[in-house]
Amino acid sequence: MAKLSDPITILKGIGPSRAKQFENLNIFTLQDLICHFPRGYEDRTKLLTISQLEVDTPACFKAMVMGTPRTSHIRKGLDITKVQVADHTARLSLTFFNNKYAAESLRYGQEYIFYGAVSGDFIGYNMTNPIFELPESAPVTTRRILPIYPLTAGLSNAVLMKAVQQALAICDVPEEILPEPVRQEYGILPAQRAYYAIHQPQSMAEAELAKKRLIFEEFFVFSAGLSLMRASRNGKTTMAYKNLDLKPFLAALPFAPTGAQQRAMEEIIRDFSKGVPMNRLLQGDVGSGKTIVAAAAAYCAVNNHKQAAMMVPTEILAEQHYQSLSRFLSPLGISVGLLTGSMKEKDKKALRSDLAEGRLQLVIGTHALLSTSTEFLDLGLVIADEQHRFGVGQRAKLAAKGTDPHLLVMSATPIPRTLALIMYGDLDISILNELPPGRQSVDTFLVNESYRPRINAFIRKQVAEGHQCFVVCPAVEENEDLGIKAASVWAETLQKTVFPDLRVQLLHGQMKGLEKEAAMADFARGGADILVATTVIEVGVDVPNATLMVIEDADRFGLSQLHQLRGRVGRGSAKSFCILTSQNRNPETLQRIKAFCKTTDGFRIAEEDLKLRGPGDFFGQRQSGLPAFRVADLSMDLQTLKQAQEASAQWIDRFGTTDTPEAHALRKRIGELFRRAEGTIN
Ligand code: ADP
Ligand code: MG
Repeated sequence: MAKLSDPITILKGIGPSRAKQFENLNIFTLQDLICHFPRGYEDRTKLLTISQLEVDTPACFKAMVMGTPRTSHIRKGLDITKVQVADHTARLSLTFFNNKYAAESLRYGQEYIFYGAVSGDFIGYNMTNPIFELPESAPVTTRRILPIYPLTAGLSNAVLMKAVQQALAICDVPEEILPEPVRQEYGILPAQRAYYAIHQPQSMAEAELAKKRLIFEEFFVFSAGLSLMRASRNGKTTMAYKNLDLKPFLAALPFAPTGAQQRAMEEIIRDFSKGVPMNRLLQGDVGSGKTIVAAAAAYCAVNNHKQAAMMVPTEILAEQHYQSLSRFLSPLGISVGLLTGSMKEKDKKALRSDLAEGRLQLVIGTHALLSTSTEFLDLGLVIADEQHRFGVGQRAKLAAKGTDPHLLVMSATPIPRTLALIMYGDLDISILNELPPGRQSVDTFLVNESYRPRINAFIRKQVAEGHQCFVVCPAVEENEDLGIKAASVWAETLQKTVFPDLRVQLLHGQMKGLEKEAAMADFARGGADILVATTVIEVGVDVPNATLMVIEDADRFGLSQLHQLRGRVGRGSAKSFCILTSQNRNPETLQRIKAFCKTTDGFRIAEEDLKLRGPGDFFGQRQSGLPAFRVADLSMDLQTLKQAQEASAQWIDRFGTTDTPEAHALRKRIGELFRRAEGTIN
């Protein structure tokens, strides 16, 4: 018996080069293989007679070969084999292209099970390239439900099928983690049956049941993980803050807070006064002013003799926040520091000792904050900006540097309530649903290729007026998906043929972290006129001088993503514009984008997007911060999710502390799921 953790190379037919191909699908071990689920099935169970076959509808039938297959060599690289078959109802001609196997193995007078689709014309019926097996052989490609797997270059469905089959034969499936009573109550298949049935279902109904089980299981693990996290915090106490007067802070601000900011600050202050660690998500559209709410929170923490740390995903954001927070807080006598990976060792060291000895009250930093050498004297508040870029584990890691500190996570991705409850089920939520006054809306247009000269002229005009432009492309490089604009190629075209006299800068996700930051920082300083980029510019960088964003092939993006992108312009005093190009002619798609052009309400866009595309695409693949569900789909399977949440909550209540094998296995799986989530971030 093999172990689930064994490498797939122990399987017959999988050597090092095959293994490389499997790696492209993230399959390394037998467990990965067994958890590589089909994306669909082909039902080949029906056995028809030849006369029952319908044109263009593939099906199985049993027929006898009525002659010796004849192969004609048409030209180099093209051999055609023809043979007649018949059953008691009709005859049929079969044609095979370049199929030596068929030519050599089909025997006159022998019966086979064929699978294929007939095509008909006035000359008669014909079938091209059917699959066939001997009736007495075990069903492999006919007379069964065939799983269809997600594939990668060089790996065929047949190879995957065979590998999975082998794996299932030589090792146990992943352990049962769902307690028996839960399975009973929700009509859930046992693990053993589900893992076999998902790969080798006897019927489509069984495949459905298996899928339901696996979806339920994923949601159960996920919800149980969140419940455990919540439970581990329950009963924790912390010092209740006494000094909660924000007046000096507000008086020093150059503007009055919006009603929404006011509300959020009050909610945070209420949390601070409770003597229980805060866990709050601050959600607000781009530009809604989350930073000063965070500053207010930091102000309170410091006034109560605690330190505060703010973690952001990129160096440039860290710098921007450092500057704006210092501006608000330094005049109030609060010491603010910056910690990023690219700082000089000497400076990092000095800053770290200031933190450890309590000389520094607020630090803004990147992942460098998480390093073990970063210590605090008394960390009371952890703030994570652009939360979707961090995994649950990372925020926990920073929090562990204090003793149950308050936690404030901020997200600019408006998330529909249903989804927020799932992703942040362990958090309370404050929403900034109001933009600061005087903010101009960004005029948004959808155009087609015939507008290209006008777009170019418009870019030129903006630059002539001293402004900068973003051009966003859906891909980095040209790929098989022809016709999509690729940032690298498009940047070159713009620079060489359209704007040879302007400065065009390129930015994409495949560039190294520091290169990316340098490109972005350069653009922010005005070092380029046009920034051609992929969606990497999404995250909250402020370039107030940018007044135009052109989004190429806008139909390739989710609406929420478009909204995030559009938020990059309109941050200064000058009128700003967003031009969406699309060559898509699908009326629904165009309708959707046109609706987007008319609205600026991020939450409405998000709801719409969730309905249309589901959460996988919703955040842009890279960056949901959600575990990578393998089977479950948050938009489709909400019903199952509700059940699993209910069941897992009960499970935590009733069995949470017991030490059954299932409970043990479940804990292990929770760990794996959340670790995998970490791996998918950035
Ligand atoms: P985000 O929510 O996207 O992080 P920021 O906190 O960066 O937004 O705020 C965007 C801009 O709006 C900043 O320049 C900030 O100073 C300004 N701002 C924030 N709150 C207000 C307000 N109440 N009145 C006017 N301007 C504000
Ligand atoms: Mg921000």
